[in-house]
Amino acid sequence: MCSLGEIVHLWQRDIRDDERCGCGARFSACTFWKRVGEHAFGHWGNVDVERVHALRDVVERTRHIPRLAGAQLPPAQRADVREYASFYARVYAAAAAVSGAQVVVDSSKHSALAHVLRWADDVDLRVVHVVRDARGVAYSWTKTVSRPETDGSDEMTRYSPGRSALLWNAHNAAFGLLARRGVPVRRIRYEQFLTDPRAALRELAEYAGVPVADADLGFLGDGYADLRVGHSAAGNPMRFSVGRLPLRRDDAWVRALPSAQRRLVGAVCAPMLRAYGYPLNPAAVPQEA
Ligand SMILES: [Zn+2]
Repeated sequence: MCSLGEIVHLWQRDIRDDERCGCGARFSACTFWKRVGEHAFGHWGNVDVERVHALRDVVERTRHIPRLAGAQLPPAQRADVREYASFYARVYAAAAAVSGAQVVVDSSKHSALAHVLRWADDVDLRVVHVVRDARGVAYSWTKTVSRPETDGSDEMTRYSPGRSALLWNAHNAAFGLLARRGVPVRRIRYEQFLTDPRAALRELAEYAGVPVADADLGFLGDGYADLRVGHSAAGNPMRFSVGRLPLRRDDAWVRALPSAQRRLVGAVCAPMLRAYGYPLNPAAVPQEA
């Protein structure tokens, strides 16, 4: 398996802005991505980034999801959706060829992109839908995190808890809709994953069509993962972490998110929190056994 990071940002942040790969090199200097670019497009310079962005604006916005989720697409739109998806499909195929991996993992979080890829002929799409308690998500989005790939000149996006709550509802609902359209979608709770990472990874690998043995999970110890250098193109700054990474559930929001905001997010997200098995009263947030 080969982890690619958030490919949705590749066009601007890497091809255009030459930000840093997970290996620490500039995108243009990373040998892995150089080979992927040659395989997919001859050279990254041949990618018409303007075109990718123009297509994204007409097909890959959250507001386009109801149309993308239809049984049919109008012919004009169908061409745009397929052309946009083809840029991704070429990157995936090239990354698989260069790495020798059977499965490539694009960790882009945009639900609209998953709906676009549903229309691609040449992508065997399997979605892993990771959910986390909306109040933990809201707290996380209020934090100031710098983006090391820009050498300190930029920070990660922040959202108010109210806006986070609306986005949480919209994106999670979009993945539910994708599953109802027949796309394989496997849901896993962040909290459940951390309770038993080995069991969770084994199950996800099987779902991805690459069953793993115990020996393949040797990098996972009791409460930690030993990470090697990877070539994640974009995403959370944690992608630069190498070596022993402690795995522990982050429940800081239970104490740190102000109670008015906790109630607001809890109320806005109540139906889906309940559906995913989260208690509405945070005092009752269980430590999963
Ligand atoms: Zn790299």
